[in-house]
This record gives sequence, C-alpha cells and structure tokens, in this order.
Amino acid sequence: MGQAYARPMLSMMSSRGCSKVACGEAAVATLTYVYADSMAVLGPLSARPEPHSYDLCERHSERLSAPQGWQVVRYSALGEVG
Ligand SMILES: [Zn+2]
Repeated sequence: MGQAYARPMLSMMSSRGCSKVACGEAAVATLTYVYADSMAVLGPLSARPEPHSYDLCERHSERLSAPQGWQVVRYSALGEVG
C-alpha cells in the first residue's frame, strides 16, 4: 500500500515572499483587488493567503500602481498617508 501523506502547501507559512516573479524580497504587505469597487487595497500582510490577494515586498508596495480608473487605498499602518 503506497499511501502518501501529502502535506498541504499551506504549511509553508513561515515566510512568504513578494508575489512579483523576479523579486525575492520578503513580503511586508498584502494587496487585495476589490473588483466590485475598482479598488486596490494595500494593507498589512494578511495572516493567510487569500484568492484575490498578492503579497508584496516593501519596494513593490511603494511602487504600486493601479490600473487606470482604479483607486488605491493604503492603510495608514504601513506609514504616513499622503
Ligand atoms: Zn517585490
């Protein structure tokens, strides 16, 4: 009986990296696209990965640009607003 005990990928939560492919930095923020409101919400790193969320490192979260017509909302926890 070759029963395999596959561990879910979710167990690899110790450190998450930036979701930008060419970027190896550690993620510090989570970007969530709210399609219904055309908003890109940038907030503190979420506790767990979510379907419409992308983890970003500090550099990429600062350089974040939303598609035209979209609004970018940044949580003040990340730093100064404005
Ligand atoms: Zn990055």
